[in-house]
Amino acid sequence: MKQPEVLLTCDRTLMSNYHGNEFIGFGTCAPPNFIPEWFYSFLFFPPIRTSKGVPFAAPYGLRKVEAQLLKEGFSVATVSPQHLKQHASRAKVIGIHAMDPFGLGPASTTLAAILKKEPYLAKHFQALLCSSAVKEAKKNGAKIIVGGPGAWQFRYRPQFVEEYEIDCVVDGEAESALGEVFKTALNGGDLPRYYDISAKDAPALDEIPNIVGPSINGLVEIGRGCCRGCEFCNVTLRPLRWYPYEKILREMSVNRAGGLNMCCLHAEDVMLYGSRSTVPDDAKLVKLHELVMKNCDSISWSHCSLAAVAANPKLFSRVSEIIRRKQTWWGAEIGIETGSPALAKKIMPAKAHPFRAEEWPEVVKAGMGILHDNMMVPACTLIVGLPEEREEDVLKTMELVDDLKHCRSLIVPLFFVPLGRLRSRDWFKTAEMTELHKQLLFQCAEHDFYWLDDLIDLAFAGKWYVRFLREFYRVFAGIAKQKARKVEVKVLQ
Ligand code: SF4
Repeated sequence: MKQPEVLLTCDRTLMSNYHGNEFIGFGTCAPPNFIPEWFYSFLFFPPIRTSKGVPFAAPYGLRKVEAQLLKEGFSVATVSPQHLKQHASRAKVIGIHAMDPFGLGPASTTLAAILKKEPYLAKHFQALLCSSAVKEAKKNGAKIIVGGPGAWQFRYRPQFVEEYEIDCVVDGEAESALGEVFKTALNGGDLPRYYDISAKDAPALDEIPNIVGPSINGLVEIGRGCCRGCEFCNVTLRPLRWYPYEKILREMSVNRAGGLNMCCLHAEDVMLYGSRSTVPDDAKLVKLHELVMKNCDSISWSHCSLAAVAANPKLFSRVSEIIRRKQTWWGAEIGIETGSPALAKKIMPAKAHPFRAEEWPEVVKAGMGILHDNMMVPACTLIVGLPEEREEDVLKTMELVDDLKHCRSLIVPLFFVPLGRLRSRDWFKTAEMTELHKQLLFQCAEHDFYWLDDLIDLAFAGKWYVRFLREFYRVFAGIAKQKARKVEVKVLQ
């Protein structure tokens, strides 16, 4: 490979296909634990296959950066972190994709606070920054630019930015800014330490390039932004844009050409594809799924909302029928956040639309029942320690979790992280956990353990090559269950 001037990479927890299952990637949020590190990484983030250091698939965000830079005429290559050294000697710029670089995201903060150790993803991000490959490249004058969904975290670690001589942190939808930033870096110009792209500078659809190399697990974006306006969310500040079918199919064909016949549709709410309101557009959603399923072997969704599912159960069943022509189930991440109508009204007044915020628990129960009946498996999140949360709000959430016990799902409580319009509020800390919070955490753990075996079976059904892995996940889940129950008995005594 001709040595390019710009190298793109990410840490090893991100350069993995997680055995073909994005859910397994959540294991990167955990800190080192009772499983030896080498074995844990094999189970939860095995290194991706490479050829001469070039990964056969890479994170979608990194692929977008690569596509934009190629479009603007840069000489670029995406390389795996384990092979960075062999390519870095002539690199003038190293671009690093960061998802949760310091473990400050909700899932990793919660696990780190409970287990009192730094999560794997933070550990490996730091390992990349202090690797000999990056150090040598720096010595040869290369500039380091970081960006990605976790870019906001660098503001909380200014010393790290100084110490590891990161030249520029790019935060926001960067398509229209990347060319200028990388050109300045290549020409040895002065880069701003922090380059924030505001929502009003977010690129229009025709400014977003198509990926040119395969993305991990066939992920393709179908839209950006969200219209629900939850107070605690960064995404809500961005404008809503839906990709046309042709753009989605073009990116899927790039993945297929790279041997990836699976597709993960990425949007904040896949149910609302093509819609300008909180009511799904039946025709567009059905057509999207007909087209996508014709062009791949299996599908998953990144996120969807329970309100859109509950608003149109018939549509959801129709989409489920289309998907289940080729597979038995599919998954998505879903935000429940709270079971309290009063709190829902304050911090996410439009989350229940087209229903009223006061109806939120009913919307959740109806939506979860529909998912269960149609074989969609959600990984649901709750937020613990939201500003203004009162004891009665936590009790309402516990009631709701109890009502969901017959719905096949994972329910994960996450500590509040100040983002979006609540970014100036205080972080929720372990010391602030009340007895009720602890009970809620254990209640969710029990819910998850109840469903885990079933989910492991579903996840690995029909995949002979990973069937033996299933037994390891079962053993891991069994040990985790025993340990959690011991802690539970102690704490709740
Ligand atoms: S939390 Fe979800 S529904 Fe609410 S604004 Fe963010 S992306 Fe939209």
